[in-house]
Amino acid sequence: MRKILFENLVKGPVTEQAPAMEEASLAELATALERAARRKLGRSLSIREVDAGSCNGCELEIHALNNPFYDLERFGLRFVASPRHADVLLVTGPVTKNMQIALERTYRATPDPKWVVAVGDCALDGGLFAGGYACVGGVSAAIPVDLHIRGCPPSPVQLLKGLLALLDKAR
Ligand code: SF4
Repeated sequence: MRKILFENLVKGPVTEQAPAMEEASLAELATALERAARRKLGRSLSIREVDAGSCNGCELEIHALNNPFYDLERFGLRFVASPRHADVLLVTGPVTKNMQIALERTYRATPDPKWVVAVGDCALDGGLFAGGYACVGGVSAAIPVDLHIRGCPPSPVQLLKGLLALLDKAR
């Protein structure tokens, strides 16, 4: 035990470095998104994430937006727990048969004006899971989609750029 403790003290951390990211460009992107949301809605943007059947790879990137590295909330953008408080539904994965009705109900529960953003290649047309017995198809097979962000999975910066493009388009 002493040996392990000693080794841990003399060795450096074994965790990987955080990805290189220009703090200034991230801040610029998020600030532009926050401004666009205020112009359009008069307040900051609220996002409800819905996993309609993904492998969770897309969720990991979406969750990263809230981690200490990206820390989206410092720009006023936030994830909410209920679709009734959301402006944007961020939907991942192919739509599975088990999630289709839940997704349709979530869409109906979201107040207007609302936007649906399909995240990841699977959300476009089912991706890897297309044709599977449990797969209905892409998100547009269940609800109307305003924007699609490609990638398997898309990075947090791609997600921010997609949200900004959505608000620009809505303007
Ligand atoms: S797009 Fe890729 S990461 Fe996202 S749910 Fe599909 S397979 Fe997983």
